[in-house]
Amino acid sequence: MPLEFLKRKSGESVPSDEAEQSSPSIPGMPEEVVAQEYILKLYYAGKSSEGVRMKAGPRALQELPGMLVGMAKSEIETVEPLPIEFGQATPVISRPSEAMQWINAHHVHSPITRHALVVLESIDAIDLAFDTFVCSLLDGEVDTSGYPEYNAVVGGVASHWDETTGDMIVRAVVGWGGRGVRGDTDRIGARLLGGLLTNILANQFAMGITPTERPVPAAGRGGLVCAHCGFASAHERAFYCPKCGMRLLRG
Ligand SMILES: [Zn+2]
Repeated sequence: MPLEFLKRKSGESVPSDEAEQSSPSIPGMPEEVVAQEYILKLYYAGKSSEGVRMKAGPRALQELPGMLVGMAKSEIETVEPLPIEFGQATPVISRPSEAMQWINAHHVHSPITRHALVVLESIDAIDLAFDTFVCSLLDGEVDTSGYPEYNAVVGGVASHWDETTGDMIVRAVVGWGGRGVRGDTDRIGARLLGGLLTNILANQFAMGITPTERPVPAAGRGGLVCAHCGFASAHERAFYCPKCGMRLLRG
């Protein structure tokens, strides 16, 4: 009878016969608890194409925004790789230190770009330790505050430097999501991904699809400083500066 103490004021004694029969008799206690249910289903999804190798080296960075021309339905924004002081940035508000880094790194961007970063970082489709991300609204509407609706498709191209050759590798990336899901968004996303990949392959420096895998960021201190642009990389494996694509000097 673990609830017995609830019935008793301190110092009050309970007759033994009453104690034996009293456990089911708490006033108003139903046989089963009627629970009010609360639930929020967040749905984030995205797609990433294979990578396309570009032969122009660091000069190819300027080509990225042009790959969205004809598909962008908002301003085209470029998000550069994050320096080491933002190495823990994560769009998760219950982790205040990581969230503050994320906000400090991204508050300058548009609502569309921030939404795209939340979706694509949450599902690991991009990693700003080494990716440069060029982004726009691609399909659908924004709300009155300028944030994409759950079925709007955002994205563009993401690039990183191949650790073996130093070539820039560009892939198409799209994403969508929020408090809802619609059946045709996946098909629209696939069509947009194809359009972006076509644009990447049509670029003057494109050499074709490459099987190169994305770099795996090492957990660690990072901290190589680029002698060319001063960028302090949070990406320990980087041979090439994630920001400007020039060779990093070790030691
Ligand atoms: Zn650099």
